[in-house]
Amino acid sequence: MTYDYVIVGAGIAGCSISHFLHEKDPQKKILMLDRHSNVAKGASGAAGAFLSPLLGKPNKLKNLVNKSLVFSTNLYKNVASEFIIHSGVERIPKDKVDAEKFLSYMEFNDFDYELKDQGAFFPIGSKVNSLEICKILSKKSEKKFDYEVKHISYDDGIWSINDEIQTKKLILSTGADVSLIEEYYFNIRPVWGQRIDIKTSTKVSHNYHKECSISVSERQRDKEGLYTSTIGATHHRFDCDNQTHHECLRKEDVLDCKDFPYTKEIYNSDTKKLLELASQILNLKDVQICDVKVGARASSVDFFPMVGNLINAKDTINKFPYIINGTHVQKERYDCYPNLYVLNGVSGRGFVLSPYLASNLVDLIVEDKNLEDDITVHRLFTRWVRTKKAKEIVTERGYLN
Ligand SMILES: Cc1cc2nc3c(=O)[nH]c(=O)nc-3n(C[C@H](O)[C@H](O)[C@H](O)COP(=O)(O)OP(=O)(O)OC[C@H]3O[C@@H](n4cnc5c(N)ncnc54)[C@H](O)[C@@H]3O)c2cc1C
Repeated sequence: MTYDYVIVGAGIAGCSISHFLHEKDPQKKILMLDRHSNVAKGASGAAGAFLSPLLGKPNKLKNLVNKSLVFSTNLYKNVASEFIIHSGVERIPKDKVDAEKFLSYMEFNDFDYELKDQGAFFPIGSKVNSLEICKILSKKSEKKFDYEVKHISYDDGIWSINDEIQTKKLILSTGADVSLIEEYYFNIRPVWGQRIDIKTSTKVSHNYHKECSISVSERQRDKEGLYTSTIGATHHRFDCDNQTHHECLRKEDVLDCKDFPYTKEIYNSDTKKLLELASQILNLKDVQICDVKVGARASSVDFFPMVGNLINAKDTINKFPYIINGTHVQKERYDCYPNLYVLNGVSGRGFVLSPYLASNLVDLIVEDKNLEDDITVHRLFTRWVRTKKAKEIVTERGYLN
């Protein structure tokens, strides 16, 4: 059987793509693949899944994040209203210096806010249930879990996955694991971290964000009268090679990964740190930890996402050999892999950015609409191809032979 679309990766990026593909191209056969046993088992399962505005002076990233925030909030409210708690977020500066900056940004706020004793309250803020949201967004796609995509190949208009699944169009939304993409410019840096879920007798009325975030209480109290709340998140970049990262990303529990810097000690000290940071925001009483989740955010080198067609560096360099010496080539002329698409690099804002980016990506796939320059992969290739490293790779790999 040949599918119309196969999506590799069932995190919020892949599930959002599934949702918009079904909306735009309802008759087509779509398959989602993931190495784990369900949707949202990678970074998407570790996320605190807070939706919060980006503050600061006007810039392109802020514009993208805040536009996406409105888009994703509306989508979640429309398709999964029971799994979004839309009760606002109080943003609190972390110290005096930060407070000055914070106040100077107020004139540039894209959203309504109300000044509070400690900071400012933004009604736009929310928190979503990551697992249920991913399930709902992907509900119409056929799924194959516990399935490792080991290799992909292309022949005669068809992509083949592990030589056994065929598709006309292939979409890779694999988060921090980009081992299927053998392109040097496609650089993702994993930023590991954790969030904790707690039970507390304190009812939290809205979300807070200072040096950590605390979520509003889940709607129901348990039998002991305790509320569930989420505290997130920590950040670690580890200086190990890609192979080690990939091996650990394949495990459902990172603590099962031998010789990896995310040790039990880090795990325990992060949990302690999150509780301490939370106590600087609110006096949470009778706290019990009920869950700890670890994941790796997929961060691009310039913090913008990576969406759209994937450029074939070797073929592009062969077509335009002088590009490596800095000669300008129009981006539209870069050589792309046919019918291969990516959505990646959503970093620490996957639940904010993915629905908006997926909607744009699906417009490109189905209707051939252009993407905004800032989110495409082209910028990364343009930057990389002029570097010394690129020249070395061209020679080493015989790109021009
Ligand atoms: C601790 C923590 C807290 C966070 N808090 C927030 C937050 O509050 N708000 C927010 O918006 N974002 C938050 N994030 C970021 C958010 O989680 C990510 O941006 C988002 O989950 C990325 O989604 P994704 O679909 O790109 O990747 P993932 O969710 O990692 O999904 C990728 C999937 O691809 C699969 N895969 C990869 N390679 C293969 C292969 N070869 N074969 C089969 N399957 C494969 C993986 O198994 C995985 O399930 C947080 C992240 C972390 C780690």
